[in-house]
Amino acid sequence: MSAGKILVVGGGIAGLSTAWGLVRRGFAVELFEQGALPYPKASSYDEHRIIRHAYGDMEGYAYLMPEAFRVWNALWAALGVCHYDAMPAVYLMRGESDWYETTKRSMGRMGVACTDISIDAAMARYPMVNPEGVTRVVQTDGAGMLYPIRILTDMVKLIAGLGVVLHPNSLVESVDLQAGTVRTAAGLTQGDAVVVTAGAWVNRLIPSTTGVAVPSRQAVMFLAPPPALMDAWQAAPVLIDIGPDSGTYTLPPRAGTRLKIGDHQFTRQGDPDEDRTGTDADVERLTAAARRAWLDFDAYTVLERKACFYTVTADERFLVRREGTRGWLGSACSGHGFKLGPLIGEGIAATIAGERDADTLAIWAAGRAG
Ligand SMILES: Cc1cc2nc3c(=O)[nH]c(=O)nc-3n(C[C@H](O)[C@H](O)[C@H](O)COP(=O)(O)OP(=O)(O)OC[C@H]3O[C@@H](n4cnc5c(N)ncnc54)[C@H](O)[C@@H]3O)c2cc1C
Repeated sequence: MSAGKILVVGGGIAGLSTAWGLVRRGFAVELFEQGALPYPKASSYDEHRIIRHAYGDMEGYAYLMPEAFRVWNALWAALGVCHYDAMPAVYLMRGESDWYETTKRSMGRMGVACTDISIDAAMARYPMVNPEGVTRVVQTDGAGMLYPIRILTDMVKLIAGLGVVLHPNSLVESVDLQAGTVRTAAGLTQGDAVVVTAGAWVNRLIPSTTGVAVPSRQAVMFLAPPPALMDAWQAAPVLIDIGPDSGTYTLPPRAGTRLKIGDHQFTRQGDPDEDRTGTDADVERLTAAARRAWLDFDAYTVLERKACFYTVTADERFLVRREGTRGWLGSACSGHGFKLGPLIGEGIAATIAGERDADTLAIWAAGRAG
């Protein structure tokens, strides 16, 4: 399709990126969002998200990262501001893991540093880490933190300035992916195609995703470190703990953000419309994981306990494909979709414009392109 009107449902990183990609290619774009733009209940809305080349056995995603960084750089240029802080991601392994070999191989192929650090050196450098059970420490480059609230806020302004028609507070009740229409309380809107990037709500608009992309309630805690560790935390890298049954990820307090810890366990339950305060059960699970990762966890003050949602697929790969004759699905799910959101949005826009092959889009977005 060389031009026409495309309707995008969802104003998270995937929808905003798709709209940006489409409007730059000359399409008329209307974007519908059930909440405010940006919407605090979206997966994409948070103080920070990790970006990294290290991808364990999902090597195909590692090889998408250089291109993902190029799209982020194009975004910073368009925004006139960079919402990214480069810093290493340091992996602490507690026990056997198959993460190491595949990561080392893909990082080597991409020419991105992936370096073992002696456990003693790591503990001296990171006094907040609990050394118990640590078997290997690996520092990876090509990583850092993105600042999503700032990114989404600026992207909304950017695409509005380029002419995208924004419909905040406009719940899409249904989509017709054969007819290219979107229904809201205000009526029916006709487009040439509809892109559904509805995050954890996708099952409601595309029933065939039910049981495939499963909404999952995840918890994070924002914390104030004890004063004696404040300087160490401010200089800390992204810390990722890989344990035998679970693990945690920690984002340090930088550039006005708070220290945050989350865990890797998918709950595969919950309703994304529910209250987003972390429950006692959320906090109990996360606290147990945090105690394994950090020393003296009880010395920290919990500033906020928060529940967030994303969808999870069985193999943790994204669902991005044509749906019907005039529809597209973009679900960058399973807890690793923010860093790749702009690249995926660009891929969907390029496919609609006929610059990419529609048949290979799903394979590429699933990190299986070779
Ligand atoms: C706790 C947590 C930690 C994470 N950590 C990382 C990380 O470190 N690195 C990383 O890369 N990724 C991470 N992710 C994953 C990443 O945030 C998501 O993959 C990504 O933000 C998904 O973006 P999206 O645009 O697909 O969905 P969303 O951001 O959820 O956007 C979907 C939007 O669609 C709207 N919508 C839904 N239905 C309708 C409707 N019917 N009508 C109108 N609007 C509708 C929603 O309101 C929402 O705003 C994390 C996610 C969570 C929750």
